[in-house]
Amino acid sequence: MELWFTEVHNKDFGLCLRVKETLHRETTPYQELAVLDTFEFGRVLVLDGIIQTSDRDEFVYHELLAHVPLFTHPAPRRVMVIGGGDGGTVREVLRHPSVEEVELVEIDRQVIEVARRFFPAISQGLDDPRVRVNVADGILRVAQARSEFDVILVDSTDPVGPAVGLFHEDFYAAAARALRGEGVFAAQTECPWLTPATTVKAYRGIARSFPLARLYAGWVPTYANWAWSFTVGSRGRDPLDPAVPGPLADQLPTRYYTAALHRAAFALPRFVEQLLAAPESPPGGGKG
Ligand code: SAM
Repeated sequence: MELWFTEVHNKDFGLCLRVKETLHRETTPYQELAVLDTFEFGRVLVLDGIIQTSDRDEFVYHELLAHVPLFTHPAPRRVMVIGGGDGGTVREVLRHPSVEEVELVEIDRQVIEVARRFFPAISQGLDDPRVRVNVADGILRVAQARSEFDVILVDSTDPVGPAVGLFHEDFYAAAARALRGEGVFAAQTECPWLTPATTVKAYRGIARSFPLARLYAGWVPTYANWAWSFTVGSRGRDPLDPAVPGPLADQLPTRYYTAALHRAAFALPRFVEQLLAAPESPPGGGKG
């Protein structure tokens, strides 16, 4: 008998993976957590039925979320990662020689434990001496911070449960206050194809909280239908400045991110440009 996992995005659309074995399942205080061993993507971390990361394609998302903002900042030393309990974003942040401290703020201790146990290649950076793991709510941690960080990255689940507040404009404003100098913020901002209103709302909230905001995108095979967006907000350099990303970009041992990809990621399909430029619908309007 064949075993399949289906990630249901809406009543008419989903993603199916054939499963070799369910390696782990538990209900944490925050979510349903599962680790599946799949034929196509290797081990897959699933939270509340939504794929978070997989052995085979995790590098795409983690490199995009980390390197675009980190190279936009001229010399990032103190970095905060919110969510990201699997450790993949932290691993990429640590590749930057200027980084001296990384604070990982993950609300669910179990995600970290399971990542260490089942995803050693992704979670390897969590034991680096520069990393401080803080099991806490990123919303509260950011609200307490003033001019402390050079880069803040939000590697959260979709806007459900404890992550809802991470997509609110007042969180983005608090993140701007938690940054110092030419601070840079970036967040995963969902899928402009499947949930356009969510992507546009996040982008506009960031654009209202930072002098400069840009949306960029990449393709993540296990997310929604591949098209995934990120939004960078900057108090300093433009990610498309001629000096960005600099010579180190092509020296890192990345598998997706390159200096050319950095710039190409900001070349958006026309329908996405039109989404971002459309007049704001009245409160409560918009789907997804
Ligand atoms: N790469 C994945 C994605 O884009 O969907 C996200 C990976 S990571 C597993 C997402 C993490 O965000 C989860 O471990 C979840 O516990 C954490 N999270 C959700 N809301 C949070 C909050 N308010 N503060 C800190 N961590 C949070």
